[in-house]
Amino acid sequence: MKLSTRLNGLQESITLKLNSLAQDYQKAGKTIYNLTAGQLPVKPPQIFVETLRNEALFLRSFQYGPVAGFPELREKFLAHLSNTRKVDFQKAGYDCLVSNGAKHSFANVMAALLNAGDEVITISPYWISYPQVIQYYGGKLIDVKTSFHSGFIPNVSEIEHKINEKTKMIVLNSPNNPTGVLYSDSWMKEFATMIKKYPDVWIVSDEIYHDIVYFDPAPTYFYQHDESLLKQTIILEGISKNLASTGLRIGFCAGPRELLRQMELLQGQLTSGPSSLVQRALIEYDFKEYQDYLNSINDHLRKNADALKVKLKEYDMASAWYQTTSAFYFMLDLTNAPRYKKLDLNTQDITEEFCQKILDEEGVVVVPGNDFGLRNVVRLSIVTSKENLETALDKVLKYLKG
Ligand code: PLP
Repeated sequence: MKLSTRLNGLQESITLKLNSLAQDYQKAGKTIYNLTAGQLPVKPPQIFVETLRNEALFLRSFQYGPVAGFPELREKFLAHLSNTRKVDFQKAGYDCLVSNGAKHSFANVMAALLNAGDEVITISPYWISYPQVIQYYGGKLIDVKTSFHSGFIPNVSEIEHKINEKTKMIVLNSPNNPTGVLYSDSWMKEFATMIKKYPDVWIVSDEIYHDIVYFDPAPTYFYQHDESLLKQTIILEGISKNLASTGLRIGFCAGPRELLRQMELLQGQLTSGPSSLVQRALIEYDFKEYQDYLNSINDHLRKNADALKVKLKEYDMASAWYQTTSAFYFMLDLTNAPRYKKLDLNTQDITEEFCQKILDEEGVVVVPGNDFGLRNVVRLSIVTSKENLETALDKVLKYLKG
């Protein structure tokens, strides 16, 4: 079959692939401990569920909505962003484009901005979809590596070092998937000072985990230190994480009006606006309400992060611990494992082998770090129940103890 060359190198999302593999095992009767989840295992706030049900009574909920999203919702998202980030986005000339999840928003941004050969600076380990989408639209990935030793915080001067005349944009994601850390306010300030020197470079700030934070301080952003940077900034947000609604597929992008207008034209031809029903429910729903709902979820994540620390100690892997603060994840460094002490993991990559073994022998599913741009590391999701997490960790860490 002669396919488009645009598809060369496009890979299936490893998280989705592992999830379906885990489901197959489960159907076959095997007990599976799934530590791959990028979503909360609970329903959204009840009031939101009721609002959705109520909106299903209206004809308008089943019909095409405006391409960019309902104007009331776009305004509401922008106002919500202004309240939570303490920045007046309306005044800054921002608009909001509602799409089928923040992943779609990200793809829209790449489609609107990238030309073949444009360089996009990403920080690794990164969210798996960044390289795939960037490359699909002809962009060249320029990776700034972070590691366990630097607490997965990138060095601002290293980012600056990679900027040249081909640099189109930098993608930041704080709080971060897959590391579970966020970049401090002083880091954001330093970044703001640096990037101010490069007004032609866009910054895509993926803030989808903004509300999933279980240790103070709350996340802040570079543009809060210098609002003039807003004209080169695009913010990605959505309801997948804070409203536990990954399946409703609503995300949005906020950015300078002229750019968003172009993205709207593209969205109009490719997908049209996202679900009218969900948008109508969001117009009726009070966003302030979800904070209470998230408090208990963030408490749960904090307890699970603590349980992880205790377990690592119990299995002589305390040196693999670092303080996560946010999002759903922890990166487990396999190079710290007693089992692999004798191997030279600078030259050898045992991630795939480990993931396969731990699934086949113990029924635990984890995501290999290779797809995030990091070898000999796996991503563990800590959203599951504490008992489930502890049982899965016992299995993983016992194996790693060797
Ligand atoms: N950005 C990051 C860092 C993510 O982890 C995800 C989802 O896991 C998304 C964006 C996309 O979220 P959605 O398309 O569900 O809104």
